[in-house]
Amino acid sequence: MKFATKAIHVGEEPGLASNGDVVVPIHLSTTFARRGVEKPTGGYEYSRTANPTRDALELRLAALEESKHALAFASGLAAEATLVLSLLRKGDHVVAFDDLYGGTRRLFSQTLSNFGLDFTYVDAREARNVNRAIGKRTKMIWLESPTNPLLKICDIRAISEVASRHQIITVLDNTFMSPYFQNPLRLGADVVLHSATKYLGGHSDVLGGAIMTSNEEIHTKAKFNQNAIGAVPSPFDCFLLLRGMKTLAVRMERHQLNAMRVAEHLEAHPAVVRVIYPGLKSHPQYALGKRQMSGSGGVLSFEVKGTLSDVKRFLRRVKVFSLAESLGGVESLIEHPASMTHASVPEKAREGIGITDRLVRASVGIEDVSDLIEDLDGALG
Ligand SMILES: *Cc1c(COP(=O)(O)O)cnc(C)c1O
Repeated sequence: MKFATKAIHVGEEPGLASNGDVVVPIHLSTTFARRGVEKPTGGYEYSRTANPTRDALELRLAALEESKHALAFASGLAAEATLVLSLLRKGDHVVAFDDLYGGTRRLFSQTLSNFGLDFTYVDAREARNVNRAIGKRTKMIWLESPTNPLLKICDIRAISEVASRHQIITVLDNTFMSPYFQNPLRLGADVVLHSATKYLGGHSDVLGGAIMTSNEEIHTKAKFNQNAIGAVPSPFDCFLLLRGMKTLAVRMERHQLNAMRVAEHLEAHPAVVRVIYPGLKSHPQYALGKRQMSGSGGVLSFEVKGTLSDVKRFLRRVKVFSLAESLGGVESLIEHPASMTHASVPEKAREGIGITDRLVRASVGIEDVSDLIEDLDGALG
């Protein structure tokens, strides 16, 4: 089956459900009766361990990344924490991209580092910066591509090759592209991670996270801790994610069309200093992006001319765009990374990687694009 078909059918084949349901039921039962005290074979025991609605979701998630396995979590960060705690132990070292989702960086620097893990942040646009940071204790390389919010791209294949030579696990946070535009496992990554809260859910009404891998050992360890730590999504969350994912292909196509139009418009706008969008030829890594992604997604960042207070004024004046954190929903959102999503990143680090006070990030939704452009023009004016 092709992507759009899998996104609708995998995990919800009517034959799988007892009554022929076309849509998977929300199985609320937290526990399941058994015939004897022996461990039931193939049946369910307790919903933290496994639940029929979550099973359907995990089948679908695996199908979309073409992985052997997928595990669903209560949020993207729950997936990240569980993954790291499953694979690393005290003394291990992680090399991470320096331009990560703010919450990921906070999890690493303020929580996981308290458990004896070390993190080094490098500009992974150059694979040799990653190579140089690898030491004897390095066990994991953590990447996003494109990054949030600067849309920097790293060469997933080149970095994964170096990592596997050193027996280091490569994790790629694929939230921005969704499985529709990029499949990092095909490029050599060991684990793909998603904040399903964004494009997979697609409607800004459910938190979720996922990890996908075809590596049995990684899957076994993470599955053990999915149950042992317990950061699982509720059956209703799983239902909403299954429902949202059915339209992933059509949504991504429209997100991209609209984002491209908005990016081109802003690039020619006198009140805009620069636009960062992987689909623009002006993106410094346009060629690399073309090689490893089949599209350029729906998120773009741009710098507004003027002072911080001008930027704030602009953000107060948009009407169709909502001034809000998050991305990947059908509705357009806009935000100020330095004071919102990336406020937890220390100011020095923020400036070092290029998150200036004038930088604005937009998640372009699937509304009529002429309304979006009119809205931005009005506020910029
Ligand atoms: C939102 C986001 C996360 C965190 O996911 P939550 O579902 O909010 O916990 C991780 N990585 C990226 C790239 C994100 O955009």
